Amino acid sequence: MKDKIRVTVWNEFVHEIDPGHGASKVYPHGIHRAIASDLETQPDMIVRTATLQEPEHGLTTEVLSNTDVLTWWGHTAHGQVSDDVVDRVQHRVLEGMGLIVLHSGHFSKIFRRLMGTSCNLSWREAGEKERVWVIDSSHPITQGLPGFFEYPNAEMYGEPFDIPQPDELLFISWFEGGDVFRSGCCWHRGRGKIFYFAAAHETFPTYLDPNVRTVIRNAVRWAAPVNTPIPEFRHRKEPFEQL
Ligand code: ZN
Repeated sequence: MKDKIRVTVWNEFVHEIDPGHGASKVYPHGIHRAIASDLETQPDMIVRTATLQEPEHGLTTEVLSNTDVLTWWGHTAHGQVSDDVVDRVQHRVLEGMGLIVLHSGHFSKIFRRLMGTSCNLSWREAGEKERVWVIDSSHPITQGLPGFFEYPNAEMYGEPFDIPQPDELLFISWFEGGDVFRSGCCWHRGRGKIFYFAAAHETFPTYLDPNVRTVIRNAVRWAAPVNTPIPEFRHRKEPFEQL
């Protein structure tokens, strides 16, 4: 039997525990639970959650060594994530752990570290309609999706988006106000696969949307490590052929 994919769903979990914040109404148990509760229905996945407030933000060496795919949601507390934990996550990505960065995670330390750019973008909070166009229907992450899907209320994330050119571009979003955004992008770093997905803002119930759930499930499967030989980097003193 194929091994199950070990998923860790990480969330800073700050807005949802503030009773005055709209996120506490939409995600009373936290965005991590909204994501994890769907992944837990998948027979090929084992899911755990981790949050900023836990020791080492719940991302100890042991947890990360036993994680195949890490999902990341953060917004207001990126600066509170310890650099040691960022180093550790980066190391695991280069070793082959998949990383799925969601929405405002574009400004997380780990995403900026792995991209090497500012990851800045344009934004507007006006509850606009967002139409997400699938522009690569042959990719594993877009399987089971219609040609486009929509959210009635979204925070606008728009171009310019200061990221390195994606290795694969899967989604482009259009917003009611006229902006467009590369809302689903893939990169490879070392042996690890990274997927950035622009959904979703903490005050909209977008993580309950069936298409969004399909994307995240597919992304976990795509980003899971594959069992290929580990590259060897060494001084190759002996040539393959006689010189
Ligand atoms: Zn947002």
